Amino acid sequence: MSKRDYYDVLGVGKSASADEMKKAYRKLAMKYHPDRNPDDKTAEQKFKELNEAYEVLKDDQKRAAYDRFGHAAFEGGGPGGGGGFHGFGGAGGFSDIFEEMFGEFMGGGRRGGGAGGRSSTRGADLRYNMEVTLEEAFSGKKSSVHVPTSVTCETCDGSGAKPGTQPKTCGTCGGAGRVRAQQGFFTIERTCPTCNGQGKVISDPCTACGGAGRVRRDKTLEVTIPAGVEDGTRIRLAGEGEAGLRGGPPGDLYIFLSVAPHRLFQREGANIQCRVPIPMTTAALGGAIEVPSIDGSRAKVTIPAGTQTGTQFRLRGKGMSVLRSSARGDMFIQAVVETPVNMTKRQKELLEEFAKAEGDDSSSPESHGFFKKVKEFFEDLTD
Ligand SMILES: [Zn+2]
Ligand SMILES: [Zn+2]
Repeated sequence: MSKRDYYDVLGVGKSASADEMKKAYRKLAMKYHPDRNPDDKTAEQKFKELNEAYEVLKDDQKRAAYDRFGHAAFEGGGPGGGGGFHGFGGAGGFSDIFEEMFGEFMGGGRRGGGAGGRSSTRGADLRYNMEVTLEEAFSGKKSSVHVPTSVTCETCDGSGAKPGTQPKTCGTCGGAGRVRAQQGFFTIERTCPTCNGQGKVISDPCTACGGAGRVRRDKTLEVTIPAGVEDGTRIRLAGEGEAGLRGGPPGDLYIFLSVAPHRLFQREGANIQCRVPIPMTTAALGGAIEVPSIDGSRAKVTIPAGTQTGTQFRLRGKGMSVLRSSARGDMFIQAVVETPVNMTKRQKELLEEFAKAEGDDSSSPESHGFFKKVKEFFEDLTD
């Protein structure tokens, strides 16, 4: 199921302003509101889709994440119960969004923006690239991730003010963050230069963070990579991004996984392909070969007499693990018959003898058939 592009849902362009989106949202919300469309499942679906899209696009941070990562920015992508994961996917997130949107629509006030009010800013999202081996993708792993980031200043608890003091309401703008100035006929409103629009000033900045409420530090996180991850899997660690400014909420950390190529195995979804060269004699006479599997065990494969290049053998349940499942894919062995090289004199003699003994062509029916067709081809040409 592919989700519709949020901008398409609202019917606005990617560069739409907050006002344009709000207008488009209100118009469509009136149209699809459940009160106006009782028992209409399609309208209900559209209403939900609309609210979800607007919830993301009206928030600058979420919109930026969406523009960068698309729907994946909000998908999570880890298992429900994994130790290291927080707040992943799940229905809970959506119902919260829905409730909030519904409240606003019905004329109720929006939920408070948190204690920081206008002076706090959400921290930035961080991206961390991690390469895992195919073996690690198979079995999953726990990994320590060192992220250079900002954390909430412990000295001032994120407020930016020296312990024992409080940020004061800005005297220039009275806490509004904006000031007006008369200039000829015009009244010009601009960001307050004293508090930079924060509405509050810190007269005694915290010495540890210089008033920012956060300090730069490397953070070490224990991350659980679940078994079955694929190249391109993203894991979102909610709230593990950069700390917010002056007590604002933290951003999220996205781990982008790539799976390194393997020297023996090629992965195809849950299955594993392995190309195995087989000596010409084994292919002709039949025999057994031993092949490795991704879980570190060995498996015996019986090669029937007369095996050709391209013959495929399937080992059920010997493939990759499947994300969020106990199932395993299959392993496919592709036989490649190896023509002997660097033969000894004795080996050559034996093969020459073999060639002479071939007599009729029943031991190489395919080449016999092919050359017969070639002969017919030339005969038809001369007709
Ligand atoms: Zn501080
Ligand atoms: Zn001010």
